[in-house]
Amino acid sequence: MQENRCDVFIIGAGPAGLSAAIYCSRAGLSTLVFGSPEKSNIARAHAVENYFGVAETLSGKALLENGKAQAQRFGTRFLNSDAVDIKKNEDGAFVIKDSLAQPYVSRSVIICSGMGFKKSGIENERKLTGKGVSFCAACDGFFFKNKSVVIVGGSNFATEEAIHLAAHAAKVAILSHGKDFSIGKEMEKLIAKNKIKLMKSPVIKSFEGEDNLQRLIFADGSEMACDGAFLALGNATASDFANRLGLARAGAGNAFIVADPRTGETNVKGVYAAGDCTGGNAQVAKSVGEGCNAAVSVIKFIKGVKAYADYA
Ligand SMILES: Cc1cc2nc3c(=O)[nH]c(=O)nc-3n(C[C@H](O)[C@H](O)[C@H](O)COP(=O)(O)OP(=O)(O)OC[C@H]3O[C@@H](n4cnc5c(N)ncnc54)[C@H](O)[C@@H]3O)c2cc1C
Repeated sequence: MQENRCDVFIIGAGPAGLSAAIYCSRAGLSTLVFGSPEKSNIARAHAVENYFGVAETLSGKALLENGKAQAQRFGTRFLNSDAVDIKKNEDGAFVIKDSLAQPYVSRSVIICSGMGFKKSGIENERKLTGKGVSFCAACDGFFFKNKSVVIVGGSNFATEEAIHLAAHAAKVAILSHGKDFSIGKEMEKLIAKNKIKLMKSPVIKSFEGEDNLQRLIFADGSEMACDGAFLALGNATASDFANRLGLARAGAGNAFIVADPRTGETNVKGVYAAGDCTGGNAQVAKSVGEGCNAAVSVIKFIKGVKAYADYA
């Protein structure tokens, strides 16, 4: 690869991006990854137990380090810098500028920029994330067996998180955090069936606890003891540059990029998307699989072949 030219840009160095990088570079494509693994959502997981091949508990950081080393072994180049600007030239080439305004040119792009969870702004949220405060019931629910947990949010999404937690925790309550609930009739039946408490609560002012979350303090000064607080306030849009490329979007707040799950193709030729940024199950296995699908499509696109062969 010339210094600033390559076959494929990968935006994002989480499970989807690393999986795509392994396939592309192993097939001989010059591959450039923007972003850093430390910013991946899985870097916040202290214990990953549900991903294939992880027989012993592994931290998210260790999983990412392994994935990065694997991609580097096949020649992937990593820029520890974000993609801040992207455009498609008339000749079909893509130009990305990184945070130092350095331009890079490629023939294809795989967007693996993940999903931002809406932050609550509640005091100590950052300090206690991974220590009782969580954004993902499917990921962390297991660690709250027989404990008392709350879900912060008032929508069907919050209810789904609560139902997931009810399979593990002894006590589950949904706190409205100063807003009104907006939950569908079917969901209300499931709330009752799963013995979940709906609590119209004041705004939560802070999460409190030394090493782990122990209690919530509300804006009116009242307190509530709990072992876990799951934030279910919705997804933040993670891919602003999707607008610049004219990519089709979907989901609440148009947070997700529309991509064919079998191929990762978007509505723009040469642009593919994989992982959490396409919506659906926010899990490592799904992101890794979609990273593979998008990479195989890019390999066919760049090499001008109809079928994928293992290029090792
Ligand atoms: C606390 C926690 C625990 C979890 N535990 C589990 C678990 O046990 N098992 C499981 O399967 N899943 C778990 N998940 C979910 C899992 O983390 C995600 O599904 C997974 O990380 C998605 O991978 P991804 O590559 O699509 O996105 P991410 O891992 O979020 O990676 C996105 C990447 O894109 C980069 N990026 C974004 N914008 C730009 C840009 N403009 N330029 C360059 N880079 C950019 C980010 O920096 C990051 O590197 C957990 C999530 C959380 C928050």
